[in-house]
Amino acid sequence: MKNLTEEDRKFILESIRNIPDFPKPGIQFKDISTLLNNPEAMKRLMDHLGERYRDYGIDYVAGIESRGFIFGSILADRLSCGFVPIRKKGKLPYTTIAQKYSLEYGFDEVEIHIDAFGSEESCKEGRRSRVLLIDDLIATGGTAAAAAKLIERAGAECVECCFILELGFLEGRKGIDSPIYSVIEL
Ligand code: AMP
Repeated sequence: MKNLTEEDRKFILESIRNIPDFPKPGIQFKDISTLLNNPEAMKRLMDHLGERYRDYGIDYVAGIESRGFIFGSILADRLSCGFVPIRKKGKLPYTTIAQKYSLEYGFDEVEIHIDAFGSEESCKEGRRSRVLLIDDLIATGGTAAAAAKLIERAGAECVECCFILELGFLEGRKGIDSPIYSVIEL
């Protein structure tokens, strides 16, 4: 596996812009648009993830709306596998499975197409599809935990959850049963 050097990690981290107090006071928002428009940082990141997951036997990369779609699509192309979108409620047009999760106040919900990893029959008969879940950042972990549950409920196996950034002090990984890999922990 092509390991990232400390210099690579620093280079990728420095390509991500920090916006204080967005979208509300006290939040340090990690703006990955400055990573996306930095081809050298993207190349180091995606080369690393492509190498890491090359031998995992991944059938699908599932990305969480919306920034997970960008990294997930590029990675799916590198791994020559399918890409599956996990979306906010009400966006997917076909029959869906939904999973609620708690926010600071109230709840939110993510959805996946019921046949995202093959039909119900093929899931019952064959082996479970091996799915890599990806998002840009894990904070409290609520979104990723709900997404990982959806993958399992859709009949597949969530092999690992991958994040570019992890806000470690929020301990979001504690609520997730699958293995977790973060490129950069803050
Ligand atoms: P959580 O469910 O608390 O782990 O939140 C994760 C989701 O919210 C991810 O899709 C992130 O893109 C987004 N998010 C949460 N906190 C931040 C932050 N500080 N900067 C950028 N995105 C964030």
